[in-house]
Amino acid sequence: HLDRIAEVDGGLHAFLHVAGDEALAAAAVVDAARAAGEAPASGLAGVPLALKDVFTTTDMPTTAGSKMLQGWTSPYDATVTSRLRAAGIPLLGKTNMDEFAMGSSTENSAYGPTRNPWDTTRVPGGSGGGSAAALASFQAPLAIGTDTGGSIRQPAAVTGTVGCKPTYGTVSRYGLIACASSLDQGGPCGRTVLDTALLHEVIAGHDPRDSTSVDAPVPAVVAAARAGASGDLKGVKVGVVKELHSDAYQPGVISSFDAAVAQLTELGAEVVEVSCPSFVHALASYYLILPSEVSSNLARFDAMRYGLRVGDDGTHSAEQVMAMTRAAGFGPEVKRRIMIGTYALSAGYYDAYYGQALKVRTLIARDFDKAYESVDVLVSPTTPSTAFLLGEKVDDPIAMYLYDLCTLPTNLAGHPAMSVPSGLADGLPVGLQIMAPALADDRLYRVGAAYE
Ligand code: GLN
Repeated sequence: HLDRIAEVDGGLHAFLHVAGDEALAAAAVVDAARAAGEAPASGLAGVPLALKDVFTTTDMPTTAGSKMLQGWTSPYDATVTSRLRAAGIPLLGKTNMDEFAMGSSTENSAYGPTRNPWDTTRVPGGSGGGSAAALASFQAPLAIGTDTGGSIRQPAAVTGTVGCKPTYGTVSRYGLIACASSLDQGGPCGRTVLDTALLHEVIAGHDPRDSTSVDAPVPAVVAAARAGASGDLKGVKVGVVKELHSDAYQPGVISSFDAAVAQLTELGAEVVEVSCPSFVHALASYYLILPSEVSSNLARFDAMRYGLRVGDDGTHSAEQVMAMTRAAGFGPEVKRRIMIGTYALSAGYYDAYYGQALKVRTLIARDFDKAYESVDVLVSPTTPSTAFLLGEKVDDPIAMYLYDLCTLPTNLAGHPAMSVPSGLADGLPVGLQIMAPALADDRLYRVGAAYE
C-alpha cells in the first residue's frame, strides 16, 4: 500500500501525511506476534488503514484540513486512534478533508483538493474525500471518516465505496476535532460491507471520556453482514422515502435507485413508500444548528492554545493577535459558518433561528419514528447526482449545501445510515443510502451485504 501511495497519490492527493516508517513498524509488531504463535490483536491485525486528519495522533500531525493547525501535533491519541492501534491496525497516514469537516467536495481543504480516482477532473465528495479516494484508488483497504451531515456516506457514494455513519454516540468523539458536537460521528469506510463491519466493531463502544457516548452493547454488525451475504431479505420491510426521491435528481441516479429497489424486492424484501414530510426542512434546520455549534466550538482557536499565531511581535494587543490569527487561519467557508452561527445564536434572534431549527429537528426525529413503526430500514439515493467537477460548486455555497439533501435527516435524528455502491451512471459511481433506527446498525449491514 505504501508503494501504491508513492505511485498514485501525487495525482490524487488523498493523503496529507504518510507515515511509512511508523506503519511498517506497526506491521512488524503484528508479524512478530504471529511468528511467536500469539493470537492476533483482532481480525484486522496487520491490515493497514487511512485515518481522516480530524482524529488526533501523537506520532503524526493533525490539521483538520486547516491552516490554523498547521504544524500541530496532539499530545494524546483520539479514542478511535487508540482502538485502531490496539487492534494491530497499521496507520498509513492522515487523509485530506474539507477544513474542520465543513464541505461536500474536499475543495475547502487549506492544503488543496483531493481528486476523484474515477475521473480526476471531478471531486471525491466531502468532507472525507481523502479517505474515500484512498480506498477507491487501492491506496488503503480500510479508512476512517466522520459524518456530521454526510461526510462518510456522500464521498463513499461518489467513489464507489462503502461508508457507514454509526448511531450517534456509539463511536467516541474523544480526540475527534469538533465540527458540530451534536451531529459529529466517526465511522468505518471500506470497499466491501463485510470489511466495513469488521472495522465498525473495532472502533465502536462506550467511552467514559466522551460525555455523549452511549453505554450500550455494540450492534452485532459483522454477524449481520455475514447473514446478509446469503442474499436473503425475506421478512425485511424496506421504506422508500418519498421526500428523498425527486425528478430533479440526475436521471442516471434515479434509474440506479429504481433498479436497486427492484433488486431488494427480488431478494425477498417487501418495499413500500413512506412519507416523512418534515425532511424537506432538514437542510434549513441543519444549516442553522451546525453553524451555531461551529461558532461555539471554533472559539477555542484563539491563537493562544493551538497552532498558528499571527502578529505576536510585541506591537499588537492580545485581541489583535487573536483577530489576525483567525483572519489568516480560517478559510472562507469556516468564516461564513462562524458568522451565521454567531448571528443565529445572538440575543433577539436565538428563538427565531436556533430555537426554530431545534423544533424542526424534533419533527424530523418524529417522522423517522413513525416510519419505523411500519418498516425496518429506509432507503434513498445517497446523493442527487454523481461526482461534480472540481470548481463547479465551490463559489456557490447553496448549491454545495443542496448536495447534502439526502444525508442530513439521519444526522439530525442521531440515527445510523450507510452508503453502498449502486452501479454506475454515465460512467461514474452511484450510492444507495440505507437508514435504520438508533442502535439498529446491524440492519444496515444485513441489507447492505445482501444488496452489494
Ligand atoms: N457537507 C456537509 C457540511 O458541509 C456535511 C459535512 C460533514 O458531514 N462533516 O456541513
